[in-house]
Amino acid sequence: MPNWDASIVFSSRGCIRKCPFCSVKDLEPEYTARKSIMRLVSPKHRRIIFWDNNILASPHWRDIFAELAELGKPVYFNQGLDARLLTQDVVTEMQKFKTPVVRLAYDSDAIREPLKKAIELLRANRYDGRANRCLLPLQSHRQAGRLPYPRA
Ligand code: SF4
Repeated sequence: MPNWDASIVFSSRGCIRKCPFCSVKDLEPEYTARKSIMRLVSPKHRRIIFWDNNILASPHWRDIFAELAELGKPVYFNQGLDARLLTQDVVTEMQKFKTPVVRLAYDSDAIREPLKKAIELLRANRYDGRANRCLLPLQSHRQAGRLPYPRA
């Protein structure tokens, strides 16, 4: 697409959660993570879009976030961040780069409480409530007979 302006990036594959209703554990059974995304980002692109299933589970999230701050481009975590791993430390590092929309994963009702806490944490750190979007519970897709795989 000639006018496409975003680098689509995976810094990790798989997910540590292994939710029973999610197909990631079948398609990407092992959680692997890279330490750098620099060579995956085109200098021609204006935005960076992550398709990681669970970037905050990466042992290298801090390295990746430092690179994002250096790159200075708007960042979209399209698969949603794991509310259970969203700490003040993560939010502080996230504030060093632009995130026009913060998406939180809402995979099942079991994470309702961590989700509420994550939203409170984001609000306390001056993220506008309108910018926080929770992805639909994946569990509901399974209940509807669809095999969920959290891709944008
Ligand atoms: S639903 Fe989300 S948290 Fe659960 S295994 Fe799939 S990607 Fe991971």
